Amino acid sequence: MPPADTSADLLASVPGEHAPADVSAHAWVRVALDVPLAGPFDYRASTPLAPGLRVIVPFGRRRLVGVVVDNPAEPAIDPAQIKAVERVLDDLPPFGADWLRLAVFAAEYYQRPLGEVILPALPPPLRKVSAYEGQRSAAGPVARMDLRAMPKPAKKGKRAAKAALVATPEAAVPVDNDAQTCATPGDAVPLAGAPVAASPPVLNDEQQAAVDAIAAVRGFKPVLLHGVTGSGKTEVYLHAAERVLAAGRQVLLMVPEINLTPQLEAVLRARLDAVAGPGALAVLHSGLADGERLQAWVRAQRGEARVLLGTRMSVFAALPDLGLIIVDEEHDASYKQQDGLRYSARDLAIWRAHDLDIPVLLGSATPSLESWLHAERGRYLRLTLARRAKSSSLPAVRLVDTRRLAMKQGLSPQLTDAIGKRLERGEQSLVFLNRRGYAPVLHCASCAWVSHCPRCSAYTVLHRGPGAGGHVLACHHCGFQARVPRACPECGDQDLQPMGRGTQRVEEHLGELFPGARILRIDADSTRRKGSAQALFASVHAGEVDILVGTQMVAKGHDFSRLGLVGVLNADSMLFAHDFRAPERLFAQLMQVAGRAGRHAEGGEVLIQTGYPEQPVYQALLRHDYAGFARHALRERESTGLPPYAYQALLTAEARELAQALAFLQEARALPESTGAFGTLVSTITRYDPVPLRVVRVANIERAQLLVESGHRPALQAFLSTWSALLPQLANASRVRWQLEVDPLEI
Ligand code: ADP
Ligand code: ZN
Ligand code: ZN
Repeated sequence: MPPADTSADLLASVPGEHAPADVSAHAWVRVALDVPLAGPFDYRASTPLAPGLRVIVPFGRRRLVGVVVDNPAEPAIDPAQIKAVERVLDDLPPFGADWLRLAVFAAEYYQRPLGEVILPALPPPLRKVSAYEGQRSAAGPVARMDLRAMPKPAKKGKRAAKAALVATPEAAVPVDNDAQTCATPGDAVPLAGAPVAASPPVLNDEQQAAVDAIAAVRGFKPVLLHGVTGSGKTEVYLHAAERVLAAGRQVLLMVPEINLTPQLEAVLRARLDAVAGPGALAVLHSGLADGERLQAWVRAQRGEARVLLGTRMSVFAALPDLGLIIVDEEHDASYKQQDGLRYSARDLAIWRAHDLDIPVLLGSATPSLESWLHAERGRYLRLTLARRAKSSSLPAVRLVDTRRLAMKQGLSPQLTDAIGKRLERGEQSLVFLNRRGYAPVLHCASCAWVSHCPRCSAYTVLHRGPGAGGHVLACHHCGFQARVPRACPECGDQDLQPMGRGTQRVEEHLGELFPGARILRIDADSTRRKGSAQALFASVHAGEVDILVGTQMVAKGHDFSRLGLVGVLNADSMLFAHDFRAPERLFAQLMQVAGRAGRHAEGGEVLIQTGYPEQPVYQALLRHDYAGFARHALRERESTGLPPYAYQALLTAEARELAQALAFLQEARALPESTGAFGTLVSTITRYDPVPLRVVRVANIERAQLLVESGHRPALQAFLSTWSALLPQLANASRVRWQLEVDPLEI
């Protein structure tokens, strides 16, 4: 049920947009604004405004949309300087107290001003003054949204759509229907999913036991559903969700990738409509047009949407009746936002569930070591699905030792043979290679020149251009592009050679080896156009592809029914990365890609090419032994004092010159010695030396970082809040751009 609109009576006495400010106004309201200043900011109104209401206020020379967070008894500054709230936006009920608590927690935990948490969480039309201005728009985007939700006339052509865009400058109108997520079941929009079974499968014993255990959970309890790939975790989610829906509560289901939403969306519609009614599903992710995102947000906030399916941003959705949060592939790094507010949606989901005293379900075949340790210690309830739901066995994993083999274009004879056999049997193969482009670098055989970016300390990658045969050199860090030189810029030799290989080159080589095969490449390059990833995945599901070549985009979540073989090409490149999480990430990624094989039929097979078959990561993969891998990795982390046995934060500084960045970080590091503000806090904090980033220069900006660490999370939090408040005052602060990241995933 949507909550009662309590704002209405409060608003009656609030001045409208054009009403003069009431000089006798006596209520103070504290407003969060998206400005890079500490905030929140005090304003005057004639009556208290409910926290969670949006308002338009003057700020300097601008006018901004803000959110009321408090009604203080006394303002924080001289009342004579306080301006009046210009307008109260009553097109939505105020955000609930729980929503504000989540925002306050995130702001404190991640050390950001509250306004920089609250406003960016909202769909753009809800936080833009322009969306409420002008004759046509005065009623606001939500009011216009309701009109758009009416049945649409016949599809407009491209030109008509353009004209419509021009006529309604708010541009929030979803004119093209290519966005998957607003499709109703009747729409002829292809969903990139395997056909949805008409009747739900009967749960197997393991699934049933998991569903029962989840049903028995009362109040807050994180449940870690550790299920091997293909074990049918989705069914468990669905059953858990159905119970919560039947009890009249909402469900938030998070997935790491936009590309995983269509398949799940189709399943959810088919299954949950019966419990929650048609139209009970809303989908929220960054691939949506503003208007679509607004619509999903508003329906969730009004309680019309009973299930919200979304990527990490959906953890901030206002859900008045939230009764269960599900985080699929909880280990996935995509849950971490990498700019602005650098939050972990998984961690915030757990906090939110704790705050609301509801269960949270974390699913994965390869849980993060953080979650696994909690389960080992009994803080999380661990449920296990050890068997696959459809085929009775996991795919057979083989390591192909490349040290003694004659490789051709990176392919071992074993892998080539295996692909050939699958082709004969009419089965699909997947060749996984986590490197896009044609070749990672161009190289001069006579003088050893290699192609590099003039703006970054990085190589440029050779890409097959859009035209026939043409190539370009592209920088994956800054986007710089250059034509391929005819001759070596250093020595003039014309014999320039691509070194190594990326997905384009492997695709080309497979085409030569298997001329009759239908080969498809899926990576960030082949899916750049909106909606194209969905179309490509649909063609794989439809059986129109024999050999799929792809990066990690293809490794995640997809339930391919005809895929028998997975070949992994450059796994070793991830083995020796500097980050202490590299083995964990490699294991998860290989387990996941291996898990695409043989999901619906016996005989699935995985070939991993490696020069280091004796490495523990590979040995654990051979046995599908996540628990063994985790035991080994946790022991190592414990002995070296790394997460999850310690808590970290990373201060990064960027400047024209590395020396400036390092000087700032040195100053920051020395703050406890140069001020008395920290007291005894620092004794439990390790401050490491500032170091340049591995790729130190990107787009002519040089970067360095400083790691701080503690075995005690509250101590680190207390340190960070004192520290981050002092950083802007450092002498070098004006010469750098800096940011603080709590619980960084990459170091
Ligand atoms: P996971 O997410 O654990 O990797 P999925 O949820 O994608 O696995 O399930 C794998 C496949 O097994 C899907 O095609 C699903 O429809 C099917 N499936 C799940 N549970 C059952 C069951 N109890 N009986 C038969 N098939 C099932
Ligand atoms: Zn040369
Ligand atoms: Zn560059």
